[in-house]
Amino acid sequence: MHDLRMKTSKLPKVAVLGTGGTIAGSGASSTQYAGYRAAVTGVDELLMAIPPLKDVADLESEQVAQVASQNLGGATLLHLARRVNFWLNQTDCTGLVVTVGTNTLEETAYFLNLVVKSRKTVVVTGAMRPSTSLSADGPMNLYRAVVAAVSIQTVGLGVLVVMNDQIIAARDVHKMDTMTVDSFRAPVFGILGWVFDNQVRLYKRSARTHTCDTEFDVIDLNSLPRVDIVVGHQDDSGVAVSALVEAGAKGLVVAGAGSASLSEAMAEAVLSATRKGVVVVRAPRTATGIVMRNMEFDDALHGTVAGDTLSPAKARVLLALALAHGKQADEIQAAFDMY
Ligand code: ASP
Repeated sequence: MHDLRMKTSKLPKVAVLGTGGTIAGSGASSTQYAGYRAAVTGVDELLMAIPPLKDVADLESEQVAQVASQNLGGATLLHLARRVNFWLNQTDCTGLVVTVGTNTLEETAYFLNLVVKSRKTVVVTGAMRPSTSLSADGPMNLYRAVVAAVSIQTVGLGVLVVMNDQIIAARDVHKMDTMTVDSFRAPVFGILGWVFDNQVRLYKRSARTHTCDTEFDVIDLNSLPRVDIVVGHQDDSGVAVSALVEAGAKGLVVAGAGSASLSEAMAEAVLSATRKGVVVVRAPRTATGIVMRNMEFDDALHGTVAGDTLSPAKARVLLALALAHGKQADEIQAAFDMY
């Protein structure tokens, strides 16, 4: 396998968009791994700290946001997606990297996977340790993200995540651990490959529809509708579901036990929500697994949507986008079966 683009004399252009997170975090000392401040260092400074990048790509950068990723809400996501599409539309731009906080990396990556309108490579990366720490993982993650972004092999694969040497499809990636550098994995579908040194080694691709082939874009979207997540439990009274409907949620993801089964009281609250026009998606409370339609729960009776293998956080992204595009529950079920 050869990365042909890297063999030409003129370096490919890559845009790097910064949004904050731990990769841009700063600690009081080089041994402080927790309790540091996220989203402090600018993306330019992060790139300047990686001199070997000058041999990989001709870099452009843009600070799109500077936030801890738990605060990267709908307005910032829409702005980010527009900037990604802007850069990829430049004919001389080969690929793009987005740096994000890892806490919600999977939602941002999946959102971009659904709304980016280009086959050029988009890589999302971050870091588990702040930029000031001993053995910070950010510089190598960012270096490898750029290597992946200029590789001919990654074109048309949808949005990719590069963390800890691994290349993972945006749809499949899951943050598995709160602290460790190997937190990002694809527990059900597996990683797509690795980046080692300047080599991309790919072994498979995601079969789910993405980027140019989805029915979603951000061109006419000014905001995303309110979609909340409720985690159900053995004794769930349904009060949280009813309260969120009352508060104006247009969609709800209910993270149910096992195959997203719900207590009787929660199921009743869900039925009343769907009768009011709120779209409710069932997603698994377990770490992995599939939620199939009418299995362990009567979706037809309750007007609910089965969330397939999406985590509650990713189900929330797809539901919000589908609602923003005016989709009804049956069309939303089709979207969960496709994306
Ligand atoms: N608080 C950070 C964030 O912005 C955590 C991280 O990036 O790892 O998500």
